Parts: sequence; structure tokens; C-alpha cells
Amino acid sequence: MINTVQKIADTLKKHQIEDAKLEARMIVASVLNVDENNLFFECPPLNEEQEKQVAALVEKRIHHYPLCKLLGKKGFYKYDFSVTEDVLSPRPDTEILVEATIAEAKGSKAKKILDLGTGSGCIILSVLGDVDSLQGVALDASSKALAIASQNAQNLGLQNRVDFVQGSWFDEDIVSRLGNDFDIIVSNPPYIPSKDIASLEEEVRAHDPISALDGGEDGLRDYRQIAKISNSLLKDGGKIFLEGGINQEKEIAAIFEQEGFSLVGILKDYGGINRCIILKK
Ligand code: GLN
Repeated sequence: MINTVQKIADTLKKHQIEDAKLEARMIVASVLNVDENNLFFECPPLNEEQEKQVAALVEKRIHHYPLCKLLGKKGFYKYDFSVTEDVLSPRPDTEILVEATIAEAKGSKAKKILDLGTGSGCIILSVLGDVDSLQGVALDASSKALAIASQNAQNLGLQNRVDFVQGSWFDEDIVSRLGNDFDIIVSNPPYIPSKDIASLEEEVRAHDPISALDGGEDGLRDYRQIAKISNSLLKDGGKIFLEGGINQEKEIAAIFEQEGFSLVGILKDYGGINRCIILKK
């Protein structure tokens, strides 16, 4: 008898879902409330209610609803983060930004870190989880995103280490609201050029918040504003760790250099893309 996981995997595959087997295991595991690794070799029979739940999830998934938002959680760096359509899905591409920031925080006497555009909170909470001496501030324009981020902070027991602030880097009073004593800024701002949004894959275009994707005409609008305010937010010698899109690294560095920052380095993600740009005040 062909097992449930395999059957679902076949259906997903037919609909061009790449990691069909893994996703099938994750869907069944979520309904059975077991770890997906328990389903590697065999799958217990599902009752009628469970069958229905699985079928409903599969139906949504074949219409390209993102798996993580279907399951309500996404593994990123060391933890599972709660996610909804109100936040950008955490991506493995961003883990390099987290690792570089952690290395800096551990190797310096950094005390305060600011995350601009925190979304689910996956970046700053991953950093705080690894560096006990750090205190964080996390900004987001979306109150719904901040509710998710603060739930994630609670889930990880980090709620006393981070303050969530609602606002935008375009707000006139943002520097006075955030303060001027940060050792590190980290940010994964929106960076997709507006004209490219329509051609993004369905999972992203239709289910990630547009405000977390659209970086204006050339994709660099938000870096220009972040560069303008970062000088005031950072202490002397403070560093900023930025995620950038494909082939944007030189322009991003130039934007910050114009504001007086010096380039420390550019790191590749695990796909070989120049992803993380590090600058120093
Ligand atoms: N990395 C995301 C994507 O390419 C974009 C996220 C962002 O704009 N910061 O889908």
C-alpha cells in the first residue's frame, strides 16, 4: 500500500512544488502534531478528520499558498518562528546576515542592536538568542508584524531583551524615538524594484507583504533613507549589516559611502549571491 506521505508528495510534485516529499511530511506532521522526522519511513493511518485537514492544506499548497504560512511557522537559523501573511517569510538567504551580525556582536563590546524592518523578528531574535550581553530595539511600520515579532520574542523567552517600536525610517522624528547609542544596526529592507514585483513567484508576490518587498523604482529607495539616518543612530565606530538583492551590493555600498560610512565587507549567501553588506561609521 502506498503511504499517505508519498501520495501527497506525488500530488504536490504534479503541481510543480519542488521539495514535494519534505513538504508532504511537514503537512502530515503538522496535522498529526508529530515531528516530521517521525514520518520518514512510515506514516500512521489518518482518521477521517485528519484526512480532511490534510486535504485542505494540500489544496491550498497546490495553489501556491506558501508552506510556512500554511503551517504558521518557519525554521530559520536555530529556531522556529511564527509567521502569517503580515510578515515576510524568513529565508535561508538571510541567515548569513544573522551569522555575520552575531560574529560582530560576540567579537566586540556591543551592547545595543537595532533591527530596521523587523517583520517576524527572525533576525534580531536569532542574534539576541546567541549573544546574551545584547539588548535590542526592533522597528516596523506594521503593527500586525510587530504583534507576530513580539509573540516570537515571548516564545523564545527573549521578551525582556527587545523593545518593539512602531514606525518608519521615513518618519521625521524616528531618530529621536529610537535613540543614538546603537553599536550595531541590522536590516533586511524592501529591495525589489517596483517593476519586478509582478514577475515574482506567486508564493512571494501574493503572500509576502508588499511593504516588505517593494524598494521603489530602482529597489534602493529604502537604503538611501536608512543611510541618511544611520549616522545619527549609531555610535562612532558602529557597524551596519544589510541584506541586499542580486547585483545591488556595489550600489548599496556607494549609497552608504556617500553618507560617510566605510565598507567593511560583502558576504555571499549559501547560494553564492553577494547578500550581506557590512559598513562602518
Ligand atoms: N529576498 C526577498 C525575495 O527576493 C526580498 C526581500 C526583500 O525585499 N528584502 O523574495
